[in-house]
Amino acid sequence: MEPIIHIENVHKWFGSVHALQGINLDILKGQVVVVIGPSGSGKSTLLRCINRLEEFDEGKIVVDGIPLDTAQNINAVRTEVGMVFQSFNLFPHLKVLDNVLLAQRVVRKRDKVESENKARMLLQKVGIPDKADYYPLQLSGGQQQRVAIARALAMDPKIMLFDEPTSALDPEMIQEVLDVMTDLAREGMTMVVVSHEMGFARAAADRAILMDSGQIIEEAPPDILFTHPTQERTKAFLSKIL
Ligand code: ADP
Ligand code: MG
Repeated sequence: MEPIIHIENVHKWFGSVHALQGINLDILKGQVVVVIGPSGSGKSTLLRCINRLEEFDEGKIVVDGIPLDTAQNINAVRTEVGMVFQSFNLFPHLKVLDNVLLAQRVVRKRDKVESENKARMLLQKVGIPDKADYYPLQLSGGQQQRVAIARALAMDPKIMLFDEPTSALDPEMIQEVLDVMTDLAREGMTMVVVSHEMGFARAAADRAILMDSGQIIEEAPPDILFTHPTQERTKAFLSKIL
């Protein structure tokens, strides 16, 4: 089977910082991959290269058969890849419903009725159908993050990227966001998730990857990576977070 994400020998420098040092990774359609690793190891940079929020300096990335090279291809890939950030990045001056509507109208050119129906369906899906007319700052962090997920899903992405989606949340709100992500994983969404939530990884992920110093150090199914890591750097990292 052709991978839906193909990453081949990707290098990225920020000035003299070699943030990605030859990353190779193939992800199949429907796979859920959790990426863990110390701060500064290149996790966010890797995610951002997949939808070309960040340019890479060497190597090749192909998403759903489209190489990230020309401007046209980059735009095509961006519309297929949804991203959810640690800081929810909602538009504070727009109501929840309009946050979920906007890109559908502008990018997908859907009419008002169709985009509103879709937005309401997605707010239902993430468990906050009653919050459509609220402004983001009237919601809890967990609710805002669920709006951000609904907004990304409104574009009908083939791939969802999550960069520490629960790191900014109070502990009691983490699970409601992880539950939405777990449902999405079970429905067959291809997902790459930077998160140290072991419970989520065990429940929802097919693969877990440990990154350090811009490299993939080790990969295994989550249960195995967490309980029987083979690399010293994985053991050292896990001993700090478990
Ligand atoms: P992680 O998400 O694992 O914490 P990042 O991908 O954010 O790591 O960062 C990897 C490395 O690249 C770090 O050394 C970081 O300081 C550096 N870096 C990331 N983004 C930038 C940037 N925009 N400018 C300069 N250096 C950056
Ligand atoms: Mg990061």
